[in-house]
Amino acid sequence: MPFKSGFVAIVGRPNAGKSTLLNTLVGRKVAIVSPKPQTTRNRIQGILNRDDAQIVLVDTPGIHKPENVLSRQMMDDLQHALEGIDILALIADASVNFGPGDRFAIEWARRFHGPVYLLLNKIDRVAKPRLLPLIERYSKEFEFAEVFPISALTGEGCLDLVNSWLERLPEHQPYFPQDQFTDQPERFVAAEIIREKAILTTRHEVPYAIAVMIDSFEEGPKLLRIRATLYVEREGQKAILIGKRGAAIKAIGTHARKELESILDIHIFLELFVKVQPGWRDNSSMVRQLDWHRQLEQIGGYQDNEAEEEDTADGEDDDENDDEDDAKAPQNLEL
Ligand code: GDP
Ligand code: MG
Repeated sequence: MPFKSGFVAIVGRPNAGKSTLLNTLVGRKVAIVSPKPQTTRNRIQGILNRDDAQIVLVDTPGIHKPENVLSRQMMDDLQHALEGIDILALIADASVNFGPGDRFAIEWARRFHGPVYLLLNKIDRVAKPRLLPLIERYSKEFEFAEVFPISALTGEGCLDLVNSWLERLPEHQPYFPQDQFTDQPERFVAAEIIREKAILTTRHEVPYAIAVMIDSFEEGPKLLRIRATLYVEREGQKAILIGKRGAAIKAIGTHARKELESILDIHIFLELFVKVQPGWRDNSSMVRQLDWHRQLEQIGGYQDNEAEEEDTADGEDDDENDDEDDAKAPQNLEL
């Protein structure tokens, strides 16, 4: 059998389920997932490996109208995600009505000159009779190559979807080693997992104000030591992240450490710090630093650790509240 390989970009409005789909298709957590929109900030690639094929899936920030430097960069990144891809998959939440945001997403998808799939997601939450009118509604706006109702969460419809993509993907050697599942360097996986746990632990405006920077990432034979700083924009947000007597930051550290230990398969010593950096979302140099594609070019030099000790919380010693805040784990599908 000929080997097939190619690139599929997953785009759609914030919260449609892009990152969930990526994780489900890859079979492990490579992108963070949260009930709050706009958590994915950079495009990242997850790799689906089969004996007969390799599909590189590009997860993207949600399609939205940019309002600050950070969100302009996110939309910029989204534009880059279209370069060199074979198939565009526009994913929409089928459990909500068609609205102006969906039209905006479709308008955006028109830039791509290749097959555009419509994925109607979250069908585990939708009564089947509602799907047909929704498909008709979407089809009025755009001529999709294929329409697939799916549940990124349960995996329903995902195998058919992958097989349909494979029919359209070219015969090609794998682009990545076949045991690789993401193009994201480990230190950025770490930053993203920490950010996910912080988002899940906090409320209201705080999640959008959180940036995580890895200060050091030192791998020993038996232990990986990670120091990271969580930046927020205001003192009040810092207080929420730290919590009463450090309870919140401690929980974030514990959840992040456990998940990272299972992803990276090594014991981890994780230290977290919290700092206030007013208005960082409008600070271009800070926003640039958050983009790991650019950061990668700068790594190599040794980074100083000047974090203040007072807000520290290590994640080594706390076992309570294990799973309640965790994002849903990806499904184990045979794809
Ligand atoms: P993104 O912003 O498009 O990347 O969306 P996420 O993947 O972060 O998902 C947003 C929210 O929708 C999370 O709470 C997910 O658990 C939830 N979600 C995603 N896919 C499904 C699905 O198929 N069914 C249900 N019920 N929830 C889903
Ligand atoms: Mg996402």
